[in-house]
Amino acid sequence: MKILFASHNEHKAKEVKAMLEGTEIELITLRDLGDLDMVPETGATFTQNATIKAKYYWNKYHLPVLADDSGLIVEVLGDRPGVYSARYSGSDATDFKNNQKLLAEMKNEKNRIGRFMCIICYIRDGEYYMFEGKLEGQIAYDIEGEQGFGYDPIFITPSGKRLSEMNLHAKNKISHRANALEKWLQFVLKEKIVNE
Ligand code: IMP
Repeated sequence: MKILFASHNEHKAKEVKAMLEGTEIELITLRDLGDLDMVPETGATFTQNATIKAKYYWNKYHLPVLADDSGLIVEVLGDRPGVYSARYSGSDATDFKNNQKLLAEMKNEKNRIGRFMCIICYIRDGEYYMFEGKLEGQIAYDIEGEQGFGYDPIFITPSGKRLSEMNLHAKNKISHRANALEKWLQFVLKEKIVNE
C-alpha cells in the first residue's frame, strides 16, 4: 500500500518511516517525487493546516495522503508558538533562532509547561480522517543535545531526558507524532482487515 507523506521536513519523514518499518505500507515522500511545491499554511489551527496540505496533494496526485501539522504550545506564552512554530523567529527562521527566541521570552518564567501537538490529516478516496497526538513536558533554560530537530533541544520529557538526547526509536516511543501515527496505523490496519 503506497501512501504519500505530504511534508518537505526530512526529520519528520525519517520518524514516520521508522514507525512504519515492518508494515506493508510504503511511504513516498515529496522528495521521492521531486515535488518542490510550497503550500501556504494559512490556517489558524493545526487541524486547518494539516487539512490544507493533505487536500493539496490529494488533488495533485490522487494517492492516499498523510499530512502532519505540528508544533509547540507553551502555556505562559498564551499557547505560542503554536501554528507559527516553524517560523517563530521570522522569515529567516532557523531551529536555533526559534529556540533562542522562546528561551528569551521565558527567561523569568517559573511555569515551564510545554506541549507538542500533532494533527494528522489522512485522505483516501476523497474522504478525510483526523488523528491527534500530544506530548507534555517542560521547557528547559538552555539549548542542549544533538539529535532530533526543531524545539527538541529545549524540550524535557517526563523521564527527565530532552528529546534531543534521544535517538529516533526512543523518540518514536513517546512523541506527539508517534502518538498520532499509532492511532492512524490502527485505523488503516482495521480498514484493511474489513476489506479483505
Ligand atoms: P510544520 O511543518 O508546519 O508542521 O511545522 C512544524 C514545526 O513545529 C517544526 O518546524 C518545529 O519547529 C516544530 N515541531 C514539530 N514537531 C516537532 C518535534 O517533533 N520536535 C521538535 N520540534 C517540532
